[in-house]
This record gives sequence, structure tokens and C-alpha cells, in this order.
Amino acid sequence: MTESTPVRQEDPLPAHGHLPTDRHRVVIIGSGFGGLFAARKFAGEDVDVTLISTTAYHLFQPLLYQVATGILSEGLIAPTTREVLAKQKNVEVAFGTVTDIDLEAQTVTASALTVRTSYDYDSLIVAAGAGQSYFGNDHFAEFAPGMKSIDDALELRARIFGAFELAELAAASGRDEDLDRLMTFVVVGAGPTGVEMAGQIAELSSRTLPHDFRHIAAEKAHVILLDGADQVLGSFGSRLGKKAKKRLLEMGVDVRLNAMVTDVDGAGIEYRNASGETVQIPALTKVWAAGVQASSLGKTLSEQTGADLDRAGRISVNPDLTLPSHPEVYVVGDMISLDNLPGVAQVAIQGGKFAAKQILHRLKGDATDPKFHYFDKGSMATISRFSAVASVGKLRMSGFLAWLMWLGVHLWYIIGFKSQIGTFFHWAVSFLGRSRGERTATEQQIFARSALKQLGDEFDPKLRLSAGRPMPERSRKSGDQPS
Ligand SMILES: Cc1cc2nc3c(=O)[nH]c(=O)nc-3n(C[C@H](O)[C@H](O)[C@H](O)COP(=O)(O)OP(=O)(O)OC[C@H]3O[C@@H](n4cnc5c(N)ncnc54)[C@H](O)[C@@H]3O)c2cc1C
Repeated sequence: MTESTPVRQEDPLPAHGHLPTDRHRVVIIGSGFGGLFAARKFAGEDVDVTLISTTAYHLFQPLLYQVATGILSEGLIAPTTREVLAKQKNVEVAFGTVTDIDLEAQTVTASALTVRTSYDYDSLIVAAGAGQSYFGNDHFAEFAPGMKSIDDALELRARIFGAFELAELAAASGRDEDLDRLMTFVVVGAGPTGVEMAGQIAELSSRTLPHDFRHIAAEKAHVILLDGADQVLGSFGSRLGKKAKKRLLEMGVDVRLNAMVTDVDGAGIEYRNASGETVQIPALTKVWAAGVQASSLGKTLSEQTGADLDRAGRISVNPDLTLPSHPEVYVVGDMISLDNLPGVAQVAIQGGKFAAKQILHRLKGDATDPKFHYFDKGSMATISRFSAVASVGKLRMSGFLAWLMWLGVHLWYIIGFKSQIGTFFHWAVSFLGRSRGERTATEQQIFARSALKQLGDEFDPKLRLSAGRPMPERSRKSGDQPS
């Protein structure tokens, strides 16, 4: 214990911040694709960078579904940002959720449990991404976790493997009436994540689990994929959509389109079909892979600049990714609404790098680019082992070749050699063999979300931290302000 006076839990600690330095100060919000790639672009440059993020790691979201289905460990797809940026001495990594941005004062305030910290900036890059959208039905989240975070993936892993365990118990004790519900898995959303998830649950039940249980036939699990649209993988066009659907049906996935989900609870899920009939599916395990909502920081920025927000909360930015009247503030990745750019990793990566380059150009007095040019490298989705679809330029591919391409691209973009090698071996075990190396799951992973929700404001992490110094004064050098 230190001698300093502990602060009571209900008193947030006073805001403190960096010690003043003479260098241009860049603050980056978010350690996802946009934030991390922006930070890397400042390597060796004459600026001080602070990267603030809710998560202390860089999450490779495209492989979350493999964590949820026991193929990969969470560490492989989420290396610690601090370690990734360790060699870049001009970058400091700060843990915290940004709760406020003051564009006039040029400060950002972040909270980490009871600790509140303010940071001042000369240039700001906001890359806080997007969360799951339940289209106004946030209470569905308790019964149908989304697929946006490590917590989501681990909770889903525990729910999926836990459902098979409960089914085994039910079968062993003659509770046959519970079996159907326990062995039914419903995935909502037939975009890439939903398709990948449904395909993997089907493959898990048919390839990995059958030998492990004594009382149930795991391969008889009923996997249902629901979507309100009339096609699978809408963004890939109708030809690839049809191929993906065909492959899913061959794997035994029950694909139901034109199905609008109307209710989700502990017992199951309810939807309205194309004829307007309400259909109920008793199912213990539900996965929500439909819809995204941009970070609420978009709203904070919109209120201060008048920039429009679209229905998904994405903020309109200038063609060079800056905010109106704020050339020192860039917004990148899933948070932006610009020229119908999709919410994909490449938009965030290229946007982050572009913003960093623009800031450096300005500081050096070089000309900046008036427009962010996005280079579309294509998109792909896996359906099962050895089967994927890919759309690259005019090329449309499906099957084994597309799957090999998917494998190569994902391995290339996973951050860190350790993670690349680890992922490669886990894939060999799962795709060439039948087993999955990451099936560990705990009861807390399933129930922590509900427990925290029930506790609400009553939750007290009992940290007993001491107060820091107040926010130091900082005098800006002329030339720090972008022209
Ligand atoms: C399951 C899934 C599968 C996907 N598959 C693909 C795919 O196959 N191909 C593809 O191109 N794209 C895919 N995407 C989309 C892609 O992952 C996103 O487009 C990309 O991650 C966006 O990058 P970003 O930097 O804008 O946001 P993110 O990568 O989401 O990063 C946001 C960061 O901000 C932090 N943050 C959020 N709020 C705050 C706050 N208030 N304060 C501080 N930090 C904050 C978060 O912790 C995170 O570090 C997938 C997404 C998901 C969820």
C-alpha cells in the first residue's frame, strides 16, 4: 500500500495529462486498424504520439469468429498494442475510453475505471470504429451476443460449447424435450460474419464434436441462418451469394431469407417471414451478426462541428478526412461516411496512414492532398474449410482457390510474426485434422455480461487509487497549428 490518500470509489480522480513537450503532439483514439496503422506511420518522426484506446490490444476482428468456434486463441488475434509499438519510442500507449473531445480547447478526456485523464493535442486522429447495432433493441444483446469484441467471442464460445454440454446432460438424463432447443443454433445476419459463423458451427458439429459425446449425435445440431434480405452475402453480388448459399445448404445449414427478427429472449428467437407470418424458433444459442453502429464519439464531434451523422452514426467528413473548420482533426475507418466507402479494414488502414501522412506534410510545410483516395483491394469470406468466395476487381472466385487466397491475405495482415506462426499451426490442426485447440470456456464468460448489467451503478471495482497531479499548463508554439 502507498502512503497517498486513497480516493473514494465514487469520486472520479481529477484529470491530469502529459507533461508539456516542445514537439507537435498527435493524439490517436483507437488501437484498431485505423489507429494502429496511423501510429506506425509516425515512426522516427519529430512528433509525440499518444494512442488512447479502450482496449489494450489491437484486435483483428475478421478472425473473431474463429475464436468463438475454438479454432484460435484470443491472444493470436489481439496482440498487445504496447508490445506492437514498443520499438517506436515517440509513441505512448494509454489505456482508457475517450468520453469527451473538446475541439476548441484541443483536449481529449478518457476514463479507465475510476481514473480520468485529459490529453491535449495539436493534431487528432479519431479511429474509434463501430459497435454492434441491434436496431433499437439493445435488450437482445443479453441473449444474442454480437461479434465485435474479444468478450463477445469468448462468451459465444462458452455458449456454443456449453450448449453441447447441456444437451449431453439432457440426453443422459432422459430430458429429450429439451434436446431440440439445446441443439439449435441461430445466427442472425447473412453477411460475411454470419456466413462464417454459421459455417463454422456446422463444421464444428459435424467434424470435431461427434466423437467426443456419448449420448448425443453432435452432427445433428440444427444451425439456422436468418436474414431480412433475400440473398446471402448481399455485398458480394448475386452470383457469389448463390454459391455461398449452395455451399451452406450442402453443409446442412438451414438458410432462411426474408426473415425479419422481431424478438429474442432466453427461450429462443422470433421472426416474421415474407408472408407476414410470425415464426418462433426455440433455441438456447443465438448469435447476432447484423448491423453496426459507429462510435458515439461521432455524435460528440457532430455536435461541435455541425457535420452530419447518418443512420448508423457515421460522421460526414471532408474529402481529406478532416472535420469542417478543423483541419487538425481527422476521422478514419468505420466512423466515417464518405463516398459510400464500406466499413472494411482497408478503408481504416488506408485512412489512418493517409491522415498521418497529411499531418507530417503539414508540419514539414509540404503540400497536402485535398482528397483521400481509397484503393479497393477486394473482399472475401470463408464458408467452410476449403471453401470461400472472393471478389477482387472484376474477378469473382469461389471454392478452394478463393479459400487459399483468403488464407494468405489474413495471415499477411495478422499483426506480429508470433501471431502469424501460431495462427498457421492452429489452422493446420483444424483444417487438415478434425480437432480444435481452443475449446476452453468458463461459466463466468457466459454470465459476466448479465451480472454486470444487473449490478448497474452498484458495481464497484474497489480499486482504491490515489489522485494524480492536475492537468499541467501548456503553451503552444506558433507553427504547431495546422494552416
Ligand atoms: C466480426 C467481424 C468480421 C470482419 N471481417 C472483415 C473482413 O473479413 N474484411 C474486412 O476488410 N473487414 C472486416 N471487418 C471490418 C473491419 O474489422 C473494420 O472495418 C475495421 O476494424 C475498422 O477499423 P477501425 O480502426 O475503424 O475500427 P476498429 O478496428 O473497430 O477499432 C476501433 C478501436 O477504437 C477503440 N475505441 C472505441 N471506442 C473508443 C473510445 N471511446 N475511446 C477509446 N478507444 C475507443 C476500440 O477499442 C478499438 O481499439 C470485420 C468486422 C467484424 C466485427
